[in-house]
Amino acid sequence: MLQGAVKLFTVRGIEIRADYSWFIVLALVTWSFAAQANPAEFQAPAAIYILLGFTTSVVLFLSVLLHELAHSFVAMSHGIRVPRITLFIFGAAAQIETEPKKAPDEFLMALAGPAASVGLAAVYGALWLLFRGDLIETGGIPPLASFFRWLAYINLFLALFNLLPGFPLDGGRVFRSIVWGITKNVGKATRIAAAVGRGVAVCFIFLGIWMVFRGALFNGIWIAFIGWFLMQAATSSSRQQVLKDLLAGHTAGEVMWRDCPFIDARTTVSELVYNQIMRTGRRCFPVTADGNVSGIVTIHNIKALDQAQWPNTAVAAIMTPAQTLKTVAPETPLTRVMEMVGADGVNQVPVVKEGKFIGMVTREAIMDFLRAKTELGLPPSPQPAAAP
Ligand SMILES: [Zn+2]
Repeated sequence: MLQGAVKLFTVRGIEIRADYSWFIVLALVTWSFAAQANPAEFQAPAAIYILLGFTTSVVLFLSVLLHELAHSFVAMSHGIRVPRITLFIFGAAAQIETEPKKAPDEFLMALAGPAASVGLAAVYGALWLLFRGDLIETGGIPPLASFFRWLAYINLFLALFNLLPGFPLDGGRVFRSIVWGITKNVGKATRIAAAVGRGVAVCFIFLGIWMVFRGALFNGIWIAFIGWFLMQAATSSSRQQVLKDLLAGHTAGEVMWRDCPFIDARTTVSELVYNQIMRTGRRCFPVTADGNVSGIVTIHNIKALDQAQWPNTAVAAIMTPAQTLKTVAPETPLTRVMEMVGADGVNQVPVVKEGKFIGMVTREAIMDFLRAKTELGLPPSPQPAAAP
């Protein structure tokens, strides 16, 4: 989903970008205002319809962005990193790096977005009343009044829709944080919230089908589609929780590969490929210079280099330098490592103890560990699961 996006601007260190699908939606929303909604409400030259239609869709997406920024700012105030927000076909999504640590944090984070939308709806609503003027005299709704009324409606809709109690929507997160606060068990709370989310999704699907049979074809299909979307989201979040439960209580030191072959910084890429990778099947190598680990080189780095350059390029030139690597300690919880490995483009994390490289946790190492654990039918966790 992150390919095919352009960077727009940055707010407090958060990169705001737009997926290509968003430009199509921007055009469609502009068109539906310029060609349908606006002409139905007031008389004006075509250029005004188009200009106002475009302005409405831009301000609309800024409102959606403010909703996401509200979530993000609260997350950041609790020490959670938010590297970017992406605008796409359904609106916007903030990439919030880790889950909140405490139930009250999640409650505030989840509520911030809908609160921002309600606030915006109130401001636009007030402006609508201000510009409404005398409806009888103009024979219609003045353009500015129409503009603010739409923005007020849509922001209110956005707040209400997101407050539906279907996890992982905002409302579902608020619900989960309350269950989490009561039960003190985030895993249980997630499963309950996901189950409620599936219930809400099923209601939407049946409501949609019922509407189709009653003749409301377009709205019925749309409601059923939202239901299907909620169902997918609830299912994937309960699957993620199962994964977290399996990882809970385990550490990086348990699953790390210990036999990573060290290679000298002067080794050429050809030598690495033919003498190491093709013979041992290993995919990542710590690079040493004067006895110290100066970085790691992986298949990923090698793929980025043109094959013709392999014989005359030293691994030092293509490695990921140690300073830019995120490392973990052997006692770092696996749930935390999994979050790091999941983040953009990171496939492995070096394990460092007292400044010394001792191993590597890779995506495959975690998957092998999970496979062994489920095949042997080992209990979910050897010790009571800590809240992630
Ligand atoms: Zn939200």
